Amino acid sequence: MLILSASELYAHGAKVAPVTGATVDANSHCVMCGAYLPAGSAATAVDKHTFSSAFNNRLDLRALSGRYVCGYCQALWGKDWLQKYSKTYATLDGVWKFASNEHQAAFFLKPPEPPFAVIFSTRQQQHMIWRTPVSQSNELYTVRVDGDLLSIRQKRLMEGLAAYNHLLSIMATTPHPVTGKKLKPPAALFSRELASSVMGSVRADVEELARSSGDDDAVATLNSLSMGEWFALNAIRNFDPDKPPEPARALNEDGTPIPKEQEAA
Ligand SMILES: [Zn+2]
Repeated sequence: MLILSASELYAHGAKVAPVTGATVDANSHCVMCGAYLPAGSAATAVDKHTFSSAFNNRLDLRALSGRYVCGYCQALWGKDWLQKYSKTYATLDGVWKFASNEHQAAFFLKPPEPPFAVIFSTRQQQHMIWRTPVSQSNELYTVRVDGDLLSIRQKRLMEGLAAYNHLLSIMATTPHPVTGKKLKPPAALFSRELASSVMGSVRADVEELARSSGDDDAVATLNSLSMGEWFALNAIRNFDPDKPPEPARALNEDGTPIPKEQEAA
């Protein structure tokens, strides 16, 4: 099933019905996600209130001159979708949590069958879904983190994890060549803030140790990772790649919300 709009995929996964109130008068595209809207199909007409001054993703609108918003983008334009489910991913089978390291490890260690779309918002109420590409491969895919679209090569990520764990094992067994002391984890510097200057760098003392023990390859592998792969490595580095956590649903399979009591359990 070829789905190009993340709005359509999320609506499908969450069993959300499209919201429409107008009939498209000539072939067009959804202003927001760019989905094709043939003449005669149902959509929501854009009026002067649709994109008010509070709307700040104007540059991301896929078809700025369009006169309709598709039923999926319209249906997902609500508080829950801007906030409650802003750390999730959608597949054809559902919408899944992507908030904790455990949720993210479930995804990154065993990416789902495509199509899927992944969003991770760290801010209050922002539009994430409709402006995120749908990934059609689980070998090379995209994750939206706030305003950034991160590319992840699955093979590189797993090589990065192996290299990272290799460095940890050297640190645990081989003293640093200058200080004579064993180094404590982590082997690299991580930050939840992608813009942080330390995010995605092997520690200098770990690099010295790796050079002295002939393990430069592991450092080179890590240095070749993209920012998205560092983001993913940060989530998975404390998990066993052979035993990924199970994905957790953000909504029940039938699209109903998960009750709070159950959430805590
Ligand atoms: Zn749309």
